[in-house]
Amino acid sequence: MVEITVKEFAKMYVKNNSEEKFDKVKSNLKTALKRKNAGAVCNNCGEPIWAAGSAIVGFDGCFTCITGESDDSEDYEVCE
Ligand SMILES: [Zn+2]
Repeated sequence: MVEITVKEFAKMYVKNNSEEKFDKVKSNLKTALKRKNAGAVCNNCGEPIWAAGSAIVGFDGCFTCITGESDDSEDYEVCE
């Protein structure tokens, strides 16, 4: 995955989703990242969660379970 900061991801996300609020997206991302670092796992399969995706969809899931795809090389994951 491509690593991107929480701030950058939130900026990019609200640019593409104008109805979303930057501060809310940022705080959701931070929460998801904290949960990932604390060892949160996918509700479906038990893999480590995909913090960026989990923040957007609102539940703990890994990349494959959220997107239905297995290639995550061009997708973003948030870091501090
Ligand atoms: Zn999963």
